[in-house]
Amino acid sequence: MSATTNAAEFERAQQSIPGGVNSPVRAFRSVGGTPRFLVSARGAYVTDSEGVEYVDLVSSWGPAILGHAHPEVVAAVQQAAARGLSFGATTPAETDLAELVRSRVSAGGVNPVEKLRLVSTGTEATMTAIRLARGFTGRELLVKFAGHYHGHSDSLLAEAGSGLATLALPASAGVPEAVAALTVVLPYNDLDAVRQLFAERGREIAAVIVEAAPANMGVVPPAPGFNAALADLAHANGSLLILDEVLTGFRVGAAGWWGLENEGRPVAEVHQDAPDARHVPAYVPDLITFGKVVGGGMPLAALGGRAEVMDSLAPLGPVYQAGTLSGNPIAVTAGITTLRLADSSVYAALDATAATISSAVSEALADAGVAHSVQRAGNLFSFTFGSAVPPRDYAEVQRQEGFRYGPFFHAMLDAGVSLPPSVYEAWFVSAAHDEAAVTRILDALPAAAAAAASATRPH
Ligand code: PLP
Repeated sequence: MSATTNAAEFERAQQSIPGGVNSPVRAFRSVGGTPRFLVSARGAYVTDSEGVEYVDLVSSWGPAILGHAHPEVVAAVQQAAARGLSFGATTPAETDLAELVRSRVSAGGVNPVEKLRLVSTGTEATMTAIRLARGFTGRELLVKFAGHYHGHSDSLLAEAGSGLATLALPASAGVPEAVAALTVVLPYNDLDAVRQLFAERGREIAAVIVEAAPANMGVVPPAPGFNAALADLAHANGSLLILDEVLTGFRVGAAGWWGLENEGRPVAEVHQDAPDARHVPAYVPDLITFGKVVGGGMPLAALGGRAEVMDSLAPLGPVYQAGTLSGNPIAVTAGITTLRLADSSVYAALDATAATISSAVSEALADAGVAHSVQRAGNLFSFTFGSAVPPRDYAEVQRQEGFRYGPFFHAMLDAGVSLPPSVYEAWFVSAAHDEAAVTRILDALPAAAAAAASATRPH
């Protein structure tokens, strides 16, 4: 018998922590009810403060690709901890991780990550990438897309996905107007809008930042060729392309979304004048940001890219960036161990599990008469309610019948399945989602789909 309850913990947390949470989506605002206070996690399961166990489809919002507390990762972390928690000095392991990332992110002999800098969060990675792009180009304007989330630095909160989408906030208070004015927000998957902006203001644009495959407004994959066209437009105008793979990097494949888009493309798709026409990437971003999986569940993220650009960072160049805990030895160890274990069999398992779960959800919703679309990008997936037409941008995503998700979510939770507590988030599978875990999910679906079907629009 547990000595506490989730409700009591939530009440207690709210006395000392704003909203009782340290990251807004955790508060269950858009689905209602009491957040589960977790005390442990293992494999595909998490356990709350009442001792109730759930199959977890949040996976720490991405990092837990091998499942929670993978024994080899835990052992490596324990050994690293025994050698010291933080040195604030360089370590050989940081270079090991940089080399590992560089060796994985390559397609057709092209390696967009020539140099890598380690930071502690995805927010820091994108914030630094923007400062670097501005410092390198000597320009100030930044282009982002509506519904894309790149962390919570000032320049990036306009019409952002994730928690801002969940709370229906167009932007954050506290961001100076002068800073917001330097970010232009465009509709996603709309190349004409990008072309027009470049035609009008191309010489002012330092960078275009884009989620490699957006998954913070639910999953909305890029139209074929969209990322490549962005790279072409940026490069034709002396701007940089920042590909944000904080969420997709090392999750959707060994070389992230960029790898999926560029590996093994048939000859017909590649540039004709390419020397080795079988393997030329369609595009090469100038900077790529990583987070989540690269830190194996510890606070670690990174930005990498062309050496010429990356070398503008201090101490070589004039763009400043630093961190007391950057390259923390325990986080680095978790990242290295996780990446080494995330081999092709892991990605094959994730793809298969994602396919099984997403089709089963779709079937259950169809059986219950709920119009919906299944959104997939590699092993990431989500659902939109109310229409079978897949949304291509944030405006279309926002038109969905989002009120159906709360009842669906709670029916799943009651049956022991923990989904992301927002319709605007992707579902994350892990290599630990075995048959027993998947069966529990599938068994819960008919009741959840019925709950979604009988949901009514709030007044
Ligand atoms: N970029 C993307 C695409 C993300 O999904 C996130 C977080 O969800 C971030 C950046 C920010 O990362 P962090 O939460 O580690 O600051």
